[in-house]
Amino acid sequence: MNINEGESSKGGSHETEQVKCLIVGSGPAGYTAAIYAARANLEPVLYTGMEMGGQLTTTTDVENYPGYPEGVTGPQMMEDFKKQAERFGTDVRFGIATGVDFSSYPHKVIIDDKKTIEAKVVILATGATAKYLGLEAEKKYSGMGVSACATCDGFFYKGKDVAVVGGGDTACEEATYLAGLARKVYMIVRRDVFRASKAMQERVFKTENIEILWKHQALDLFGKDGVEGAVLIKNKGEEDEEEVKIKIDGFFLAIGHTPNSDVFKDFLETDEVGYIKTIPGTSKTKIPGVFACGDLQDKVYRQAVTAAGSGCMAAIDAERWLAEQ
Ligand code: NAP
Repeated sequence: MNINEGESSKGGSHETEQVKCLIVGSGPAGYTAAIYAARANLEPVLYTGMEMGGQLTTTTDVENYPGYPEGVTGPQMMEDFKKQAERFGTDVRFGIATGVDFSSYPHKVIIDDKKTIEAKVVILATGATAKYLGLEAEKKYSGMGVSACATCDGFFYKGKDVAVVGGGDTACEEATYLAGLARKVYMIVRRDVFRASKAMQERVFKTENIEILWKHQALDLFGKDGVEGAVLIKNKGEEDEEEVKIKIDGFFLAIGHTPNSDVFKDFLETDEVGYIKTIPGTSKTKIPGVFACGDLQDKVYRQAVTAAGSGCMAAIDAERWLAEQ
């Protein structure tokens, strides 16, 4: 191995830089990995990706992250994470990983198609993106009644009426969770069957305040200063197709997430949806020296606190791996 940390060379217009530890992604996983890596002297360079701060910057109040007894806004919390990472010397830069080459050592990550970072260890924390239906109203009411995370935002709908879109495990889980808080939960399911596992379905069927709207699709939302209702279409394309309105205060999307793993797929193992596979109980990918953490490799928990925990694991795994070389 012959890597000189911090060196930079320009060959034509394409720049190459050598670093010890490269972190890609700026959500709770990436910044936590940076805090630990910086304190372990790995001199991390962190590229933020397009959405600086990750998914939390699109939420309003975060009340379930330990250490904030009064709650905190998502953007403020991510600013705090960033400051803490910088305090220990993390070099935080705006840029997007547009390609990688993990076929030879040192690992190479291309940033913005114009710069190659050669890194002794790479920590991937690019997260996942919640899928939306693509309605204009979803943007209009973002943070004002539209959410893609029941665990994060359900609390604000105590005693109110909400709808969950989707028929998979996530939708059933979120509907059941919301049913414990809200007065009534509608499930808007586009087919006449669930995709969810039988066990999850059973839980929904047993919950009295969940009403399943089979063969319904959401067309629009309405409301003055926030969501007050949804316009749905029932039996779309059939003779008895009809428009239906429901009164709701919250509209929860649970139609799946897309892990941001496209650029890594040629080199790392993913599951059928695209989540990076790690060795269970670790952050190690199948490429030595490349680690994955946060929602990029977690389709089950997807919480800021679990992402942060896995970012910590990735930095510790990276530090130990380097020490063994
Ligand atoms: P999913 O299994 O892909 O289900 C997505 C659901 O959303 C389906 O019912 C789908 O309908 C519906 N949908 C997709 N696009 C839609 C659209 N444009 N309009 C209306 N409905 C739409 O996603 P998921 O529920 O997030 O689960 C992802 C993975 O994580 C699964 O493997 C799941 O088993 C796993 N998971 C496990 C747990 C657990 O074990 N506790 C919890 C959550 C998730 P169709 O069925 O008609 O396609």
